[in-house]
Amino acid sequence: MSLVIYNTLSRDKEPFAPLDAGHVRMYVCGPTVYDYVHIGNARPVVAFDVLYRLLKRRYPRVTYVRNITDIDDRIMVRAVDNGETIEALTSRTSGAYQSDMLRLGALAPDVEPRATQYVADMVAMIRRLVDNGHAYAAEGHVLFSVPSMSDYGRLSRRSRDELVAGARVEVAPYKKDPADFVLWKPSADDQPGWPSPWGRGRPGWHIECSAMSARHLGETFDIHAGGLDLIFPHHENEIAQSRSAFGHAIMAKYWMHNGFLNISGEKMSKSLGNFFTVHELLDQHPAEAIRLLLLTAHYRQPLDFTHEGLTQAKATLDRWYGALRGKDARLGNSVPQSVEDALNDDLNTPLAISALHALGDPAELRAGANALGLLQQDPEAWFRWTPAGSAGPSDAEIETAIVARQAARKARDFKESDRIRDELKAKGVILEDGATGTTWKRG
Ligand code: AMP
Ligand code: ZN
Repeated sequence: MSLVIYNTLSRDKEPFAPLDAGHVRMYVCGPTVYDYVHIGNARPVVAFDVLYRLLKRRYPRVTYVRNITDIDDRIMVRAVDNGETIEALTSRTSGAYQSDMLRLGALAPDVEPRATQYVADMVAMIRRLVDNGHAYAAEGHVLFSVPSMSDYGRLSRRSRDELVAGARVEVAPYKKDPADFVLWKPSADDQPGWPSPWGRGRPGWHIECSAMSARHLGETFDIHAGGLDLIFPHHENEIAQSRSAFGHAIMAKYWMHNGFLNISGEKMSKSLGNFFTVHELLDQHPAEAIRLLLLTAHYRQPLDFTHEGLTQAKATLDRWYGALRGKDARLGNSVPQSVEDALNDDLNTPLAISALHALGDPAELRAGANALGLLQQDPEAWFRWTPAGSAGPSDAEIETAIVARQAARKARDFKESDRIRDELKAKGVILEDGATGTTWKRG
C-alpha cells in the first residue's frame, strides 16, 4: 500500500503523488513566539514530524520548512511588558521553542525561517499583487482585494455571506470590500517597521508564509499543514496571495490540518488554569511519554491530554524499554510492514501503536517505534530519567553505591550488600541483578 492522505481541499483521502517525485516539499506553519509555546502547539509539530520521517524513508529528497513568526502585535505588547527589546524576547522564545521541539523528538526541519528576515520578499510579493490588480493601497495599508479572485474561499468552503461576516471583526473605512484583508500596515514611530513603497510599516501575518514558502519551496509545492484553526482565514489567504501573485491553479497540492488538543476534556486556557507549556511539561514528564500521548489519537481527531494519559504512556514505554533492555536492538531493521501500513493510511498513529504492541522481536519494535520517533534512547537512560528538581540520588551516587555493593558481595558481606540495596530502594531506585551485571531504574 502506498501513502494516502486526507486533503482538506477536496475533503477526501487522496493517494500522495508529489509534483516532483525526486524532491518532496512541505511547509508547516509554526508558532508566534511571544512566550514558551503550549502543548497544543506541539501537536502539529509532532504529527507532521511523523510525516516527515515517512517521506524521508520513501523519497530521495525532502525539504521541510517550518517557520517562526517573530513579528506580531502580541510580541510587541509582551516585549514592552517585559521591558526588553523584541529581538531579545524572540531570540529567547524561539530558541526555547526549537530546543523543546527537539526534546520532543521532532527532527529539525531543513529550513526554519524567521519572518523578520524575509520582509523584502514580502514587500516584493505585495508589489506584484498591487501591480496585477489583486491588491490596493489605502491610508498606509495595502489590502488584498477578495473580489479580484473568482474562486476565493475554496479551502474553507465559506459562502460569500460567511466571509463577510467573518471579516466584519476587522471593519475599516479604507476597505473596498468587507472581506478584503491586510497585506501591509503602517507602523507608528515606536513600533517596529520596515521601509516600503507604501511608507514605513510591517507585514500582515498571512503574507509571511506565502513569501517564506515561495522562497524555500517554490511557487507551488506538495504539502502545506497546520492546525485546524488555520484553515480560515490564514490558509485561505495564503492561497489567495500565492496564487494571485504567481498565477498558478494551486499553491500547495495537499492541505493537512490537525485537530485540537484539549486538557481533560476542556479547551486549554489561562483563565481555566489548565494551560501547560511544553517547557514545564518536559520538566515533569519524560519527553517520549509526552510524544507518545500526542500520537495516541489520529492527528485529525481531537486529542484529550490528561494526567492519566501521561501515566499510561509512561507505563507503555516502560514496557517497551523493558523489552529492549540488555538486548541487541540496534537500528538497522526496516520499519515493519504493519507499522508502515498504518501510517500509509493518512498517518494512522493509533493503529501504528497497536501494531507496535504486537511485535515480539526487540529489533523490530525498535525500528517500528523509530517511525514514530519513539524508543530513541538507550533503555538504561530511559529508566534513569528523573523529574527536574527531584531530591533523589544522582546517577553518579547510584553508580558508586552499586560498585560498593558489588565489592561487598565479592567479600561475601551480604548484610552490607543488602543494606546498600535497601537504602537505594528507600530512595526510589530499584536494582536488578542480571547475567551481565546490575542495572537500575528509578521507580
Ligand atoms: P499559533 O502560534 O497560535 O499560530 O499556533 C501555532 C500552531 O499550533 C498552529 O498550527 C496552530 O493551529 C496550532 N495549535 C494552536 N493551538 C492548538 C491546540 N490547542 N491544539 C492543536 N493545535 C494547536
Ligand atoms: Zn502560515
